[in-house]
Amino acid sequence: MAIEYLRLSLTDRCNLNCLYCTPQEKASFLKHEDLLRHEELARAAAAFARCGVKKIRLTGGEPLLRKNITGLVKMLKAVPGLKELAMTTNGVLLAPLAAELRAAGLDRVNVSLNSLNPAAYKRITGSDSLEAAWDGLMAALKAGFSEVKLNMVVMKGINDAEVPEFARLSMDFPVSVRFIEFFQTSARTAQLRDAYLSSAETRKRVEAAYGLLLQVPPGSTDGPAHVYQRRGAKGRLGFISGRSDYFCGACNRVRMDCTGRVYPCLFSPATHTLKDLLRAGTPEEALDDHIKKIFLVKSEYKRNSPTAGHIEMSDLGG
Ligand code: SF4
Repeated sequence: MAIEYLRLSLTDRCNLNCLYCTPQEKASFLKHEDLLRHEELARAAAAFARCGVKKIRLTGGEPLLRKNITGLVKMLKAVPGLKELAMTTNGVLLAPLAAELRAAGLDRVNVSLNSLNPAAYKRITGSDSLEAAWDGLMAALKAGFSEVKLNMVVMKGINDAEVPEFARLSMDFPVSVRFIEFFQTSARTAQLRDAYLSSAETRKRVEAAYGLLLQVPPGSTDGPAHVYQRRGAKGRLGFISGRSDYFCGACNRVRMDCTGRVYPCLFSPATHTLKDLLRAGTPEEALDDHIKKIFLVKSEYKRNSPTAGHIEMSDLGG
C-alpha cells in the first residue's frame, strides 16, 4: 500500500484532559527546544511529499496551541506535491481561528467532541468548555472548509446514551459524524477497560432511533470509516472500528510527532527520527532515502493484536 498520508503532531500539550488520553497526568511535557521549528516541520513535510505523501493531517495534543498556527498552515500548504492539508482539533480554540485557517489553505477539519451534555463533557474532558467547542464546530461549518467531520469516541456507560443525538447532527448539519470504537492505549486509562462498544452495536442504536441507514461508498477522504447516510440528511455517518475490524491492509499512513520521531504504525514500538538529520542540514536526497527506509519498515510490519501497548495519544494525535 503506497504511503500517501502523514499524521503530523504539532505539540504534546493539550487544553483538555480526556479520560482516554489524560495528557495532564503525563510525567512531563516536552521543552520548547525539543519541538521541531516551523521551517523544520515544513522541510520534513516537503521530504515526505517527495516520497509520495499527498495528504497531511495536523494533530496534537491540541494543534491550535501551537504558536502562529496560521503561519505554519500557510507554509505547509505551499509544500510542492501536497494535495490536502487537514486538522484534528478539540474545537475549543477554533471559533476565532476557523476563517483565517481556511484562508491560509487548510482544506478540512475534524472536531473531536465526545458529549453534548455539559456535565458529561466535563466528566470526559475535565473542562467546562463544551460551549466553546460547539462554537468552534459551528465556525468551521461557516468557514467554507471542503469538509467538516465530528469525531466521537463512543464509551459504554459514559457517553453511549448520546449516540442517537450525535447521529441527529448529521441530519441537521452538513457534517460527517464519526463514531470511533474506544480502545485502551495506556495503563493510565485502565478504568475504562469496560468502555468498549463495537461499531456494530453503535450502528444498531442509530438504526433503532432513526431506521435503516443506507451504506454509501466511502469517498477519498473517509479513510477507514464505514459510511452511511440517512435519506434526506445533510451529512453522513461513519463508523471506525479500530478494535473490532482493524484495517491494516488498507493503511496508507505514518505518523510523526512534534520532535521528529516517525512511527510507521500506531502499534509498532519502532521509531525513527528526522530531527538530527534536519538540524544537520542533511541534503534532500539523503532525507528522502531515510524516509523511504521507514516506509519499507512499515510495509513489513504486521499488527498482531487488537489492542495497543502503551501509546501516548497526546504525543501522536491518534
Ligand atoms: S484526546 Fe485530544 S483533546 Fe483529549 S486530551 Fe487527548 S489530545 Fe487533548
